[in-house]
Amino acid sequence: MVIGLGRFGSSLALELTRRGTEVLAIDSNAKTVQHLAGSITHVATADATDLEALRQLGVPDFYRAVVAIGTGLEASILTAALLVEMEIEDIWAKAITKQHGQILRRIGVHHVVFPDNDMGERVARLVSGRMLDYMQVDDDFALCKTRPPREYVGRPLGESNLRRKYGVTVVAVKSPNEDFTYATADTELSYGDVILISGRTDDVERFAELP
Ligand code: ATP
Repeated sequence: MVIGLGRFGSSLALELTRRGTEVLAIDSNAKTVQHLAGSITHVATADATDLEALRQLGVPDFYRAVVAIGTGLEASILTAALLVEMEIEDIWAKAITKQHGQILRRIGVHHVVFPDNDMGERVARLVSGRMLDYMQVDDDFALCKTRPPREYVGRPLGESNLRRKYGVTVVAVKSPNEDFTYATADTELSYGDVILISGRTDDVERFAELP
């Protein structure tokens, strides 16, 4: 179930539908709902802060819900509180600010996401450095697509001591016009390769800045 079909909620509901998940999408704006009808399995116009309306839609039977209302702070919190009250097992919610996120967590939301902040941080890393792509997989752990530093070109990874020296692991390598393959101790990096590295956020950033 996805509640709130703004840019974030509608993208989410459409992507879930594309992946074959049956979705109930709810928004209080009839025009928004009309626009998405046909593209998402079930779409309904309802005020998600209205307990009776949620009951009528069968919301208590759902296992997983995402509250994708952001700027409407009051509606976001009230909706999340109703879902907690209904004992929905897995509740996700989008937060706009840190305080919003804290409130959502306190009332019992299981997962809080900050799409605007996360995307801003990610883009900052990409535009300011040499990273080609970046994904934070945990609070202090990241995956990064980058180019091999000069120092490590032309010798096997097994001899490079990368993990000891920089705390990063080369997970996979892609040579021009080839697919990614897993890196082994015998893999030799070349200029023009693209590598996928993993490690603690700071270590990954430091390594990606090497010339
Ligand atoms: P986005 O950035 O994803 O476009 P947003 O963070 O600006 O959205 P809002 O505009 O607050 O978030 O809300 C997103 C959607 O949630 C809107 O389509 C709005 O109609 C819907 N919405 C707001 N309040 C309610 C409510 N009480 N019940 C159901 N839907 C609601």
